[in-house]
Amino acid sequence: MYVILLGPPGAGKGTQAVQTAERTGLLHLSTGDMFRENLRNGTELGNLAKTYMDKGELVPDDVTIRMLLERIGRDDANVGCLFDGFPRTVEQAKALDIALKEQGNEIAVTVLIDVSNEEITRRLGGRVSCATCGSVFHEIFNPPDANRPCCGTVKMIQRDDDKPEAIANRLQVYADQTEPLVAYYTQAGKLKTVNGEQSPEAVGVDLLSALQESSN
Ligand code: AMP
Repeated sequence: MYVILLGPPGAGKGTQAVQTAERTGLLHLSTGDMFRENLRNGTELGNLAKTYMDKGELVPDDVTIRMLLERIGRDDANVGCLFDGFPRTVEQAKALDIALKEQGNEIAVTVLIDVSNEEITRRLGGRVSCATCGSVFHEIFNPPDANRPCCGTVKMIQRDDDKPEAIANRLQVYADQTEPLVAYYTQAGKLKTVNGEQSPEAVGVDLLSALQESSN
């Protein structure tokens, strides 16, 4: 089964994707994580991606599509994938459709985690990450535990793309380039929406039911 999680930055896609992948056995694929891993490893791809990520812009389609298609071509992706942060443009969605079709597969469902702009701005404002592993916390909603520090260190950083100018830009980029995917998957009869302003647990439950309905 191939599933897409769609939603604005800060909708909780990452958190939901990790939990849902554990519950379903699907392979969690996050293009944002792939870029950040490349950056940590000092690859050319990572350095190129950083110039876009820091400004809250999208990494160009050709680079992103090539990286993602290479990843889904590996054997461990045969169990099915949960895409988190990909596709982000109609071009990427079309490339994914074609690649899956060549493998005899298709997207089963795209789940939109729906959250208002006001709520997104509130959430992204307090987001901090572990300086070592990149795990995401929130100063108000999910503060790092001072008694059990992540990676043994209390050092938290704000990702450059979580700074106020970049947040505004990421929201605009989402509206311009990614939101058209709502129409794209609605037309294909593959869109389901869950309310992303509930507790993370409730969002997880709704997400799982959306997947179950689509696998029947
Ligand atoms: P994320 O962790 O999904 O919020 O992604 C962080 C950043 O990585 C984004 O703001 C983009 O700069 C870049 N990125 C991640 N996924 C994509 C994608 N599918 N297309 C283009 N850029 C992406």
